[in-house]
Amino acid sequence: MTDHYQKPGARRVGQVKEVTSLANPIIKDIKALTNKKDREESGTFMAEGLKLVIDALELGWSIRTLVYAKAAKGKPLVEQVAAKTVAHGGLVLEVSEKVLSSVTRRDNPQMVVGIFEQRWKRLDDLKPSQNETLVALDRVRDPGNLGTIIRTADAAGASAVILVGESTDPFSLETVRATMGSVFAMPVVKCSVDEFLAWQKRSGAQVVATHLAGAVDYRTVDYKKKPTIVLMGNERSGLPDVLANAADRTVRIPQQGRADSLNLAVATAVMLFEARRHLLSLDETK
Ligand code: SAM
Repeated sequence: MTDHYQKPGARRVGQVKEVTSLANPIIKDIKALTNKKDREESGTFMAEGLKLVIDALELGWSIRTLVYAKAAKGKPLVEQVAAKTVAHGGLVLEVSEKVLSSVTRRDNPQMVVGIFEQRWKRLDDLKPSQNETLVALDRVRDPGNLGTIIRTADAAGASAVILVGESTDPFSLETVRATMGSVFAMPVVKCSVDEFLAWQKRSGAQVVATHLAGAVDYRTVDYKKKPTIVLMGNERSGLPDVLANAADRTVRIPQQGRADSLNLAVATAVMLFEARRHLLSLDETK
């Protein structure tokens, strides 16, 4: 990917490029962010919507490029975001709706799109303390599931989402969309099974694994005594023995009806809201 960006500090205040051609090389690079390889190489990703971009900037995420539709020109909030982008050494592109549709692959695209630098936490950055809950996902495959889990973890007050093994990318367009902005609020870590097992031992947290063969009802676990890592299995094959055997508890959510199992994101939501039930109250809603 070509480096169209300036170094932070090298300000060109007020610079806005107008782009109407789909063949523009900057637009080509932005469109390439739909590929995982290009996201990894550039260390960036795309987020759509003015509110999301404003929230991300407020949370201190670094913006590389702001793209907005001609129709959004002059709107005070868009102008503010554009000024912030330029002040941080980023590019601002004013584009036609056709270009915006092709960048987001949508017929009715959002008026504003931000290209941000990816941010990952390391396992050793996570030091769970009392009342903290973390989610660990074994080889999560589905981008919509991961996005929904990141959003749910944020809403339940969890501290981080840990991706164990080969997982779908939290910075794909589909996942970012499904997080509804929570990708900017929830720390995400990726690690191997061995790294996770070594870290869980020294973390001081209890690991509560979910399994369709679990003998323990998930509502009977004491979630207050220690920080908790809720460990969830892969959508197709469930949790492998190497992870299930290392857990402190292996629990099941009782079911009725014909369904074999719950959807991964739904099961994660059930677990998180039970594990944090004693910590969640309507009085504390923002
Ligand atoms: N065929 C898979 C299996 O045999 O485990 C089904 C996996 S299920 C779609 C995905 C994950 O959601 C499971 O690995 C588990 O972590 C969780 N899950 C779904 N339903 C559950 C239940 N009733 N009790 C406990 N965990 C459940």
